[in-house]
Amino acid sequence: NKQVIFRNYVTGYPKESDFYITTTIIKLKVPQGSNAVLVKNLYLSCDPTMQFQMRNVQSPSGTQSFVPGSPIHGFGVAKVIDSGHQSFSEGDLVWGTTGWEEYSLIQKPETLFKIHKSDVPLSYYTGILGMPGLTAYVGLYEIVSPKKGDCVFISAASGAVGQLVGQFAKLMGCYVVGAAGTPRKVDLLKNKLGFDDAFNYKQEPDLDAALKRCFPQGIDLYFEQVGGKMLDAVLLNMKDHGSIIVCGMISQYNLVRPEPLRNLMNISFKRLSIKGFLCRDYFDRYHMFLDTVLPFIREKKIVYVEDIVEGLEKGPEALVGLFSGRNFGKQVVALANE
Ligand code: NDP
Repeated sequence: NKQVIFRNYVTGYPKESDFYITTTIIKLKVPQGSNAVLVKNLYLSCDPTMQFQMRNVQSPSGTQSFVPGSPIHGFGVAKVIDSGHQSFSEGDLVWGTTGWEEYSLIQKPETLFKIHKSDVPLSYYTGILGMPGLTAYVGLYEIVSPKKGDCVFISAASGAVGQLVGQFAKLMGCYVVGAAGTPRKVDLLKNKLGFDDAFNYKQEPDLDAALKRCFPQGIDLYFEQVGGKMLDAVLLNMKDHGSIIVCGMISQYNLVRPEPLRNLMNISFKRLSIKGFLCRDYFDRYHMFLDTVLPFIREKKIVYVEDIVEGLEKGPEALVGLFSGRNFGKQVVALANE
């Protein structure tokens, strides 16, 4: 059983060398009497929040830290090989928390979602039909729903969550602008994902000026995924009574000390509403979310861009690449065909 092992706790930016690959021998059978399931992992999801699990501190979002010397874990798509649980049978396809290894023994199979096989690619259950998709849906359909004509800004817009938030906001009739870190990503937003405008934040000497250019009347809704300088510039460009949905702040995750913000008083001056959320509080909405999103995919009202690397060996590089913007769309590691 090939595995990605966590070498040791990380301070600052994670590196590929914080992980190594080993192979162990395992029995491809669930131990007698156990109600675990044994799965063959097919696709693994690279998620920025895995950074919090690499630290030797209690994660602020409550996730379990990785254990040095043990395989890391995250969301993935898998096939049941053997089951001691009455709700799962050999051959079932599932998604949920699994190990970064070829085969995993899942001790709490109740946390897995069954996949009803359809015309949609299985890898989508790491992204658009998995946790990032649910995150985008919860943000825009449950936390703050923009109105037709609202001006919506999204940071990290071409990624797993952002590309969907933008497309949902377009379907709601909004004017949508995204920020991303390369010319190719900006082109994707404008020419494939239907954003009204986009800019490369790394090439803008003045983020405040870039936002004023895109939103001369100001921003009604900001979907925050980056924090730091971007949030500071956005605070200057929000309309009075505007809303900020705080999904994440990736620019701050690897810093030993978070960057100070200068423009926080605008929250009061502009009477802003700021609401944070964690996707994991909304897994009970999953089936409602599928009912909304699957028709959008089938009717080609939304598209989804994935960046798939092949093989467990490529996993660490893909995972740490999230923090330098190496991924083009949802970052997935493919292990095996069904
Ligand atoms: P992405 O697929 O968007 O990948 C991360 C992207 O973030 C990179 O491609 C890069 O894009 C951008 N990025 C990396 N470092 C920086 C930086 N220093 N400054 C600005 N941008 C940076 O990831 P996800 O869509 O999976 O996640 C996006 C955000 O949503 C993250 O903050 C994540 O933690 C959060 N999240 C929150 C959840 C919740 O429950 N609240 C659930 C899921 C995600 P670029 O090239 O454009 O810079």
